[in-house]
Amino acid sequence: MRFVDEYRDPDAAARYAQALHRITTRRWTLMEICGGQTHAIMKFGVDELLPPQVTLVHGPGCPVCVTPLELVEKALEIAARPGVVFCSFGDMLRVPGRERDLRSVKAAGGDVRIVYSPLDALLLARKHPDREVVFFAVGFETTAPANAMAVHQAARAGVANFSILVSHVLVPPAMEAILSSPANRVQGFLAAGHVCTVMGYTEYEPLARKHRVPIVVTGFEPLDILQGVFMCVRQLEEGRAEVENQYARAVRREGNAAAQRLVAEVFRVVPRKWRGVGDIPQSGLALSERYRDFDAELRFGVADLVADEPAECISGLILQGLETPHGCGAFGTRCTPERPLGATMVSNEGACAAYYRYRRVRLERDPAGSSVRGA
Ligand code: SF4
Repeated sequence: MRFVDEYRDPDAAARYAQALHRITTRRWTLMEICGGQTHAIMKFGVDELLPPQVTLVHGPGCPVCVTPLELVEKALEIAARPGVVFCSFGDMLRVPGRERDLRSVKAAGGDVRIVYSPLDALLLARKHPDREVVFFAVGFETTAPANAMAVHQAARAGVANFSILVSHVLVPPAMEAILSSPANRVQGFLAAGHVCTVMGYTEYEPLARKHRVPIVVTGFEPLDILQGVFMCVRQLEEGRAEVENQYARAVRREGNAAAQRLVAEVFRVVPRKWRGVGDIPQSGLALSERYRDFDAELRFGVADLVADEPAECISGLILQGLETPHGCGAFGTRCTPERPLGATMVSNEGACAAYYRYRRVRLERDPAGSSVRGA
C-alpha cells in the first residue's frame, strides 16, 4: 500500500537499527508520547530492534486513558437521562465507571450512539429538535478543531439542543509535569506527530531549552519511530537538546493557523485533572465564555460530581512512564480487554491493551525491570 509499505520496509528498518547501534554509547530513556506510537512499537517489535542501552517508556498520549473517572461518571449520568441522545467515539463506551459503562446505560434503555465525528452529533441534533444531543468531546489538540467547529456551527445555526461534554487535554503541560517530577527518568521525547500537525512545535522549544531534553516530532509507522529514536539518541550523544521534526511530510513548525484560531475562539485553557496523574495546571480546554451555553456539564448540572480512581489500577504510573503494564498485578488476570479495570486496558491506544495484544509475555528487556515505583 503506497505511503504505508515504504514506512514498514524491513531492510530500511534494519539499516536504521544498525545506525542506531553504531551511535549509542550510553544508557538513554526516551518516552513516546502517543498511544498510537506505543501500539506501533509493540505491533512491529520496534523496541526489539533498539540497542540494549535505549529504553522506551510509554507516555500519557491516550485521550481515553487520561479522561478522569469523574468525567466518565458525568457522561454516564447525562446519558441515562430521558430525552438525551448521548454520542461518543466507540472507545469510550467500554470505559468503566464506578459501577457501569456507557454500554450498560444503553442496554438499560439509554440512547447512546457511536459517531465518527462531532458533526454527526450536530446533524442528529438538527434532525431531532425535541431531544437533547450531547457529544463526548474527548481528545488532545488533534481533535479540538473538529469539536470547536461543531460548537461554532451549532451557535451560528442556533441549534439549542446540542452540547458537548468537554474532556480536552494538552500535551506540553503534561510533558512539563513529567519533566518536573522528582521521579522523572525521561531524557528525550518522541512528540506526537498528529498533535503537531495542528499546533506546530514552537510550544516545545522552551521545554527543550528549560529541561535540556531533545524532542523529536515523530510519526506513527515503524520507520518513523526508528528514525525518531535515532534523531533523539543522536542529540543526546552529541549533548544537544533541540526540537527536531522527523514527521516533515505532515508537520510544519507553525502548525495549522486556521485550526488554532478556531480552537482559541471556542475554547479557553484551564487546569485539568488527568486520570491517575492528578491536576496539571493549564493542561486542558473548556468552552470559552462566549460558548458556555453549549457546555453539557452546566446544562445538566453535573459540574460538581467527583469520583476517586480505583486503587488497584496503576495506570497513572504507566501514563507517566514510571511503570509498564507488566508491573500491574491485575494485568491479564483480573484486568483484560473484555473486563477492563482501567482505561489503559480499554482504549485502542492504551498501553495495557497494547501489551495484552502484542506482549503478554514479559521480555527480558522490558522497561518494567527498571521501574522506579516506590523509589
Ligand atoms: S492492567 Fe488494568 S488495572 Fe492494571 S494498570 Fe492496566 S488498566 Fe489498570
